Parts: sequence; structure tokens; C-alpha cells
Amino acid sequence: MTTTITLVQGDITRQSADAIVNAANSSLLGGGGVDGAIHRRGGPAILEDCRRLRASRYGKGLPTGRAVATTAGDLDARWVIHTVGPVFSATEDRSELLASCYRESLRVADELGARTVAFPAVSTGVYRWPMEDAARIAVETVRTTDTAVEEVVFVLFDDRAHEAFAAQLR
Ligand code: ADP
Repeated sequence: MTTTITLVQGDITRQSADAIVNAANSSLLGGGGVDGAIHRRGGPAILEDCRRLRASRYGKGLPTGRAVATTAGDLDARWVIHTVGPVFSATEDRSELLASCYRESLRVADELGARTVAFPAVSTGVYRWPMEDAARIAVETVRTTDTAVEEVVFVLFDDRAHEAFAAQLR
């Protein structure tokens, strides 16, 4: 199966998909950026699920590069897949961890039976990953991951992000 990659510019909380990926932090208890937007629009059910995960499987939080699913609450999706991107470092190559976010999210999507998955540009906000490099890693990883997901939609918040991802698809 080949996975179709499409790009959308806009707010990921307005996207409809089987699963919407959240660029979470390891606490799973909310934050700014995409995370804040998803919890705001998705409502309290998502946070309730996240708290349950913290009380059970992820007592110390979700490790960087991993992914876990919750309900999507009021979002137009069945699940939110939370993944924790690495903070960019100029002195240490953390690319494999960023690639792992996409791979692990697709693995969780496969476990759930999700066929359409929307991703934000993980780590490119507060975690400061340079957009062009993040776009390269995101697109390369999705292209080379064996998954039953039929469509991956990258939802890019602004023009610059959209252009960086478009350049990778040309
Ligand atoms: P991280 O902590 O992984 O860097 P952020 O949420 O700070 O996560 O940013 C990740 C990317 O998501 C940034 O490029 C940011 O511009 C973008 N972004 C912020 N809000 C939204 C949203 N509602 N929909 C899609 N992308 C968003």
C-alpha cells in the first residue's frame, strides 16, 4: 500500500481525519501551540484520557519520540495521537527522535485501524526545530514507513511551513 501525502495550510483542529496528531509534551497535561489548541477545541475528555494515561502506563510521562492515543473529544476525528517531539539541539543530532514521532504515530494509527491521519509540523514551534529540516524528516519518514494508513495530511499553520513541506514533495 502506498500512502498518499497531502498538504493543507491551516488549523489542525479544523481538520477531519480518523486520527489527529498532537505535538504534545511528555507531561501529556497540555501546553501551548498545537497542544493548547487541540485541548481547547477538543474539550475536557482528551485531558481526562491523558490523566488516566499518567495514572497508569505513563506515570513518568510519555518519552520523546513515542506516541499514544486518546479520544478526540469534540474534534472531527476518532482519536488524537499524542507524540512528543525532541527539542532542537545545535550540538546533538536528535533527528532520529523526530523521525520516531512520525513512525510511532503511524504505528499507533495502524493499531487503531485509522486510515487518514493529520500531522502538524512536530517540534517546529516552541521546540525550535528548523522548518526545512523538520519538513525533510517528516516527509522522508512517512514515505519510508510501512503502514496501512492511506492518507497522511500535513496541516501547516503558516505560509512558511506550507512552502517548506511543498518543497519536499516537489
Ligand atoms: P512543538 O512543541 O513540538 O514545537 P508547537 O505546538 O509549539 O509544538 O509547534 C509545532 C508547529 O505547529 C509549529 O509550526 C506551529 O506553528 C504549528 N501550530 C501551532 N498551532 C497550530 C494549529 N492550531 N494547527 C496546526 N499547526 C499549528
